[in-house]
Amino acid sequence: MKQLTAVLAFSLLALPGLASAQTMFRFPASQLADQCGNGGCVVSAYKDYGGRDYACGGVRYSGHTGTDYALVGGFSKMDYGVWAMNAARGYIEANVDGYYDRCNYWDQANPYAACGLYTANYIIMRHPDNTQSKYWHLKAYTQQFARGTSLSCAYWIARVGSSGASTGPHLHFEYWVPGYGTDDPYAGPCGTPYTRWTSQGAYRGLPGITCQ
Ligand SMILES: [Zn+2]
Repeated sequence: MKQLTAVLAFSLLALPGLASAQTMFRFPASQLADQCGNGGCVVSAYKDYGGRDYACGGVRYSGHTGTDYALVGGFSKMDYGVWAMNAARGYIEANVDGYYDRCNYWDQANPYAACGLYTANYIIMRHPDNTQSKYWHLKAYTQQFARGTSLSCAYWIARVGSSGASTGPHLHFEYWVPGYGTDDPYAGPCGTPYTRWTSQGAYRGLPGITCQ
């Protein structure tokens, strides 16, 4: 009995650690059949590791810091409406809305042109473990929640658009670690050893939709 008490005490002491467990993400958009399901969205670029993506492939572009999920069907699919979803529970820490959302070119030499670097509509979520997820290029005036709102996982937060430095409708999803900066939720031989997806899925496929 004494031993059992000791075990229980140890378990209780260990519990606070659970509160700051590493956040794991689901796919950050709807996978319903008329949304990203049925091949409605594809990975157009992963995070860049100096010329390679996490799996040592070439699906990246120079300096890219997140993952791009592009709408197959382009602007007509964007007009139909595809929902970005918060990939884990947390609160809306920052957001920007109201910028032009039909950008179709980006000139790196002239980033302040019509679709410049600082004119994306976006949402930044803060998670219980202090990490962040970022949702970029959103369609204007489709954000569903005010800054500061706490959400459990997988709400429709805004529609996918093409605002900011964007050449077509896509969701740029990015994962940030405090004190470190942008990181990659995908694990692979040319990337990080630990996945931050609840189900990473196949290379060039979409991650799963199970919430943590
Ligand atoms: Zn991107």
